[in-house]
This record gives sequence, structure tokens and C-alpha cells, in this order.
Amino acid sequence: MAGKTYDIAVLKGDGIGPEVVDETLKVLEALGTPDFNFTDSPCGAGCYLEQGNPLPKESVEACRRADAVLLGAMGLPHVRWPDGTEMRPQIDLRIELDLYAGVRPIYLYAAEHSPLKGLGAGDIDFVILRENVEGLFASMNGGIELRGEVAVDSMVITRSGTERVVRYAFELARRRGRDPMKVTCVDKANVFKSMAFFRRVFDEVGEAYPEIERDYAYVDALSMYLVQRPATYDVMVSENMYGDIISDLAAGLVGGLGMAPSGDIGEDSAVFQPSHGTAPDIAGQELANPLATILSAGLMLRWLGDRHDDPAATQGADRIEAAVRGVIAEAGVGTPDLGGKMSTGELGDEIVQAL
Ligand code: NAD
Repeated sequence: MAGKTYDIAVLKGDGIGPEVVDETLKVLEALGTPDFNFTDSPCGAGCYLEQGNPLPKESVEACRRADAVLLGAMGLPHVRWPDGTEMRPQIDLRIELDLYAGVRPIYLYAAEHSPLKGLGAGDIDFVILRENVEGLFASMNGGIELRGEVAVDSMVITRSGTERVVRYAFELARRRGRDPMKVTCVDKANVFKSMAFFRRVFDEVGEAYPEIERDYAYVDALSMYLVQRPATYDVMVSENMYGDIISDLAAGLVGGLGMAPSGDIGEDSAVFQPSHGTAPDIAGQELANPLATILSAGLMLRWLGDRHDDPAATQGADRIEAAVRGVIAEAGVGTPDLGGKMSTGELGDEIVQAL
């Protein structure tokens, strides 16, 4: 029987986005199965400069129609709206497609990638669940600035929005099946009403998962614990802004943003992209680490495999992860951010070779 073919919308974006996505497409093609139809759609700060819109309607529709979306990175610091904020079509797309669960696995592939002492491959292995469509980012298009004197953004926490992301976190912990299973609620419930509410909903949802330990950390304290004892975490869940910040801190524990994949998951669509931005400081120099995007494609295959009950997709995810593990285990292998000397293309080729 012929295997399944997946339609993948590809949004390469700006800066290093196209460089890391091109390596990832090479890797997906090297798998052999499943089959893919890749369709490029314009999006990003460059698209704004060309067309006057960073997120054309046709691109959103292409993402809606596709089986999944692979995205590079978007935004350029010098391309801004009149109010001084940047283009952020990748965030607008999350809201358009209601991609409420930002899934960010943090895994240490090699001891030398971590600035922390005494940790080996696999010793850091947790997932951050970032609520992706409300929280402080809900103000994104609605904050106010008055008389050039006062500026206000508000934290928006809803019951249904919190319930679904917290449920996702507990289901994920159950699926990971660690001993013991644990979900940490990351908040600031000691100060903010919105965060005390978030924690209350966390507890209500958590009641349905008695086998999973409920853990709590204020976001400031968590920033210290993540450095002191990262090995003790399994799954953590937080509102949008805190999730944004702790994701970068966590990436720093395992080699930087070039090692941090992500999936933005909704009921009907999902977008897979590295946690990093467009890195204008290294764009066009073959210095970008493509592994975060390649690992994001692995997450995409795992999601497609679950959704379509397709073992070929799930095996593709396993093969990509194993290839990254195998390649990176060799001392000195990697782009400069990992202490290696490889170019973006050479590291992509190594992964293809390993497959
Ligand atoms: P950034 O993630 O682009 O870069 C932060 C640092 O990490 C830089 O030193 C960069 O060189 C390094 N880095 C990032 N990805 C790397 C990779 N794959 N390999 C090696 N090094 C890598 O964050 P920034 O500098 O704050 O933002 C740059 C632009 O990206 C801004 O315009 C910002 O708005 C945008 N941005 C986009 C996204 C997204 O598309 N999801 C996310 C964050 C920032």
C-alpha cells in the first residue's frame, strides 16, 4: 500500500530562517518515507517590505489547508510599525490558527553543550508548555499609550484557555511516563490575581491526574532552580510571557537557541519552528545551527504520526532524533555556537548522511 503524502506549508521568513529551513527540507526528503509536498508561502519582515503586509491572507489560508506548517523565523530589528514595535507575523499566525499549546522540549544532547558542570547527555530532559495565545501577549494588538506619557499592557488569563493548556501539560507528562511524573505550574501567584487564578485552574485540572505530581514555582525562583537543578523537571506549564522568557533560559542550558525546537499546536493546525529568531548578526554567513529546525521537523512528524495513526511518520521522527543524537555524540561536531567548526550546510549534510 502506498504511504501517506503530507502537504506542508513552508514559511521560511527572514534572516537565518531560509538557511535553517533549507537544511531541514533536505533532511525530510532524505527520510524517503513519508512523502511530502512542500509549498512556499511569503511571510515576514521582508514580505512586508515587498508587499506591505508581513502576513498575507493567502499565506494564512495555505497554512490552514496544509497538514502541517514548517516555519523558519521572522522579523528584522530595523523593520518596525510606526508605534515602534516589530513585525511579528509568527505570533499573529498562532492567534489566527488558535495554536494554544507552545511545546518546547529541552534536551541535553552532549555534555559539552551545557555551561553547567557535571551533566551528561540526557541529564536535562524536560518540556516547557507555553500558553501561546493569551497571557501578557493578549495585549499585543490592544495595549495603549496615552499622551506619550503612559503605556499599558494587560495580562489576560481565561478559564478555558488555561484549562486546555494545563490539560495538554498533564497529558504530555502521562505520555512521557517518567518516574515520577511531574507537572510544574510556573506563575507569580504570590502577587498577581491573574496568576493565582491560573494556579487555581491548574489545580482543578490536575485533580483528574492523581498519578502525576503537582509542583509549583514562582517564575523568578524557577529561573534559579533551572540553573541549579534542571534534571529535576519533567513538564512545566506557564502563561505566554513567562513561557517565552524561561524557554530562552532553558535553551541556554543545552547549547543555546540553535538546540531548542518547538511546536505550536492547536485543534486543527500546527506550526513547527525553532525557538530562535532571525539572528541578523549571523545571517548569510553559514554560521546558523540548523538542528533546532531539524528537530522541530521531528516534532512535526511525531504530531502527524499521532494524528493520522501513521507509523511511517512516527518512525521518521525517531530516525531524525536518532540521527541528531548520533552525529552530535562525536566530539567537536557542530556549528560554532556548539564549539564546532562546521557550516550550516555541512551540519545538515551530516544529518542526511546519518539517515
Ligand atoms: P535571536 O534568537 O534571533 O538571536 C539571539 C542570539 O542567538 C543571537 O546571538 C543569535 O546569533 C543566536 N542564535 C539564534 N539562533 C541561532 C542558530 N540557529 N544558530 C546559532 N546561533 C543562533 O533573537 P534576537 O536577536 O533577540 O532577535 C532577532 C530578530 O528575530 C528580531 O527581529 C526578533 O523580533 C526576531 N525573533 C523572531 C522569532 C520567531 O520568528 N519565532 C523569535 C524571536 C525573535
